[in-house]
Amino acid sequence: MQQLTVLGTGVLGSQIIFQSAYAGKDVVAYDINEEILAKLPERWEYLKAAYRADIADATDEKLDAAVARIRTSADLADAVKDADLIIEAVPERLDIKQQTWEAVAAVAPEKTIFATNSSTLLPSDIAPFTGRPEKFLALHFANEVWKFNVGEVMGHAGTDADVFEQVATFAEEIGMVPVRIHKEQPGYVLNSLLVPFLGAAGALFVKGIATPEDIDNTWRISTGAPTGPFQIFDVVGMMTPYMLNKDSADPVQREFAEIIKRDYIDKGYLGKGSGRGFYSYE
Ligand code: NAD
Repeated sequence: MQQLTVLGTGVLGSQIIFQSAYAGKDVVAYDINEEILAKLPERWEYLKAAYRADIADATDEKLDAAVARIRTSADLADAVKDADLIIEAVPERLDIKQQTWEAVAAVAPEKTIFATNSSTLLPSDIAPFTGRPEKFLALHFANEVWKFNVGEVMGHAGTDADVFEQVATFAEEIGMVPVRIHKEQPGYVLNSLLVPFLGAAGALFVKGIATPEDIDNTWRISTGAPTGPFQIFDVVGMMTPYMLNKDSADPVQREFAEIIKRDYIDKGYLGKGSGRGFYSYE
């Protein structure tokens, strides 16, 4: 699969576009209007700097060649017309995903395989809107795809086995380690592990059992892991645990969300990207 179209050029979409182009794929970047697409050159500069810092052999030549393999389009029919594979990274709302796939189904070539990068929705929630459920599945990336290069491949009961393998192969070709998920599972493997782990850390903090630093130290020293849960919160950013927990059925998790809002978000401490979260990076 050489021709890729990515729908949505936000945080994850832009990374999937750049990573695929860096691996030699021809990529069309689609978004809802030209104003949003006009911001992409700035995004490529940011990603080029990150690749230079994190990947030993990321030369300027290779990075410029990646950018040259990216074409942008705000016209959906034009964006998908040659696609072997479409990866959707539009906002995490079921109605937006369903409308997007319905619109794509009306214009995409018959051969095209469809994949969603949704973190929390199940492929079976979206499949009926694709017009080709047998060619639809999830390919889930982790933020900072060039570094945290896991590609979780998860179909629904009606996904064709050959399509599943083709997408796992594609993931490998663009430098991901494909993880084959054999049954639909909310949160895939990664978030099935990570969400309860981070929730347990949040509860220890809310109940005043230990400080974030000591909780992180305990985890790092006793397991050999490079980062503790509060360092992970800082990388993910404060908005995610806040949104995830503010309406939780568990009062401790709701309190954690309130603390995150009051003591961090409202003060502009949004995590590592903003220079400060549970830790200071200034
Ligand atoms: P984002 O808000 O940064 O980007 C969404 C993009 O979609 C924007 O560029 C927006 O203009 C565009 N968009 C909005 N409506 C659209 C439409 N109808 N058609 C096409 N494009 C449209 O979001 P994100 O963080 O990149 O998340 C996108 C998807 O990736 C979500 O499903 C999310 O669950 C998943 N994901 C996110 C992360 C993460 O860490 N941010 C990690 C893994 C997976």
